[in-house]
Amino acid sequence: MTPSTHVPSHSPSRRLIEGRGTAEGAWRSSSTLERFAVCDVVEWTERFRSIWLLAPHPDDEVLALGGSMAQLTASHAELHIVSVTDGEASHAGSSEWTAQRLAKTRPLEMRRSLEVLGIDAQVLRLGIPDGRVGAHRETLLKALVERVDERDLLLATCRFDGHPDHEACGEVGALAAELTGATLFEYPVWMWHWASPDEVVVPWTRAQQIVLPAATIDRKRAAIDEFRSQITPDGGREAVLPPHVLPRFLRPFEVVFT
Ligand SMILES: [Zn+2]
Repeated sequence: MTPSTHVPSHSPSRRLIEGRGTAEGAWRSSSTLERFAVCDVVEWTERFRSIWLLAPHPDDEVLALGGSMAQLTASHAELHIVSVTDGEASHAGSSEWTAQRLAKTRPLEMRRSLEVLGIDAQVLRLGIPDGRVGAHRETLLKALVERVDERDLLLATCRFDGHPDHEACGEVGALAAELTGATLFEYPVWMWHWASPDEVVVPWTRAQQIVLPAATIDRKRAAIDEFRSQITPDGGREAVLPPHVLPRFLRPFEVVFT
């Protein structure tokens, strides 16, 4: 996910990722989420040749859609994860977690996390610099248009997600969908932090939920535990994914905007 500390100042002010963000209780007690239409990912398997998930950092794919990917594997979908960066910028200034160590560790954590969820996906690592996806849009776009066509589904982070790398992935995903005829769905990660249930910028009527059985949520919890670099405090610094953030990703459903 990569922490809030290095979100550049050009991020639109209303989508700032700082502080503790919207409390999970505010989401769970809101009627906004109850109104989401329910969608069945098995239908995606029937409708699309293959499914391409763009993950800005190694963990976004599992945090946002780990349970859905497990269901897609169970329904024998052809699943690809485009791992855009290696997430080496998650601990700016840390002596413990250097960029080199993170670049080596985080893709391995992702692999183990996918294994815990039993996800069968081909992973394409692009090695674009973490925090600078916006400056490498053409590399990402080329990688997509060379592989994706009108029979495919692209899952990209929301163009309004708040983190510049996430928004850049959403923008490139939308352009790739336009150029290839692929279908684009967007998924939120940081939106749960900066937005509130009555946020007008968010297209709530396009939100759909993928319902997860309890056993899948348990496996997802174990899968998230594999992201040790992200869930463990770094010396005196709070973890990148502190305990109050994790419940956003352990709800009994996951969300896409169609
Ligand atoms: Zn991320």
